[in-house]
Amino acid sequence: MSGGPIPGRLFIATIELIAYLQETGDRRQETGDRRQETGDGSDRNPERQRRAYLAQRRNLMVIEDILLLGNPQLLARSEPVERDELAAAVAAGGDLADTMAGFRKQHGWGRAISAPQIGVSKRIIFLNVDEPWLVINPEVSDASEEMMEIWDDCMSFPDLLVKVRRHVSFTMTWRDENWQTQRRRIDGLFSELLQHEIDHLDGILAVSRAIDGESFALQSERDKIPGAVFANNPA
Ligand SMILES: [Zn+2]
Repeated sequence: MSGGPIPGRLFIATIELIAYLQETGDRRQETGDRRQETGDGSDRNPERQRRAYLAQRRNLMVIEDILLLGNPQLLARSEPVERDELAAAVAAGGDLADTMAGFRKQHGWGRAISAPQIGVSKRIIFLNVDEPWLVINPEVSDASEEMMEIWDDCMSFPDLLVKVRRHVSFTMTWRDENWQTQRRRIDGLFSELLQHEIDHLDGILAVSRAIDGESFALQSERDKIPGAVFANNPA
């Protein structure tokens, strides 16, 4: 389930190697200086150091490729998670967390991501606004009649903004990471965020919800859109 596309991992392996080379270079410099100061000739085994470093990095991050607009997998409806798939779902949640952290580092925004965006066709969402939140098999009920208009964005088309209409609030029922059923009225910023992510699980992208032909803008032009309310602001 967490087996993702190889290129993303290779990319990260390369980043890790560069980071390692930089870090060990710095450390060698420091060690050399210290050795001169203290006369202490002790040094750590560089190969052991390298292996430990890479193992640590691997345990820390699994960054998958985020599927981009145009990839037909984004238009497929994802399958519910079954009870006996919970461990795999939680593991996928970890991959989503790492992948979103990688995206945030690069783009400065991103608060929620869905499993189909990393090629896992399961009904799993990961959010991180003030704290991490794993949502499995979400169901929507009692959506408000009152709607809001916002300029939405998406990690699957990071350069684009789309003006959409979302319900102001709704009730969500879901399974948590312990397979407990949870139910909560969702409003405020979580409302548009979760409607966007639940749409992903149904193969619906924000571009399909554009209000009209003038509801598209490039991120670079966001300051020029008069009176716009944005789903997301760069961190
Ligand atoms: Zn999205």
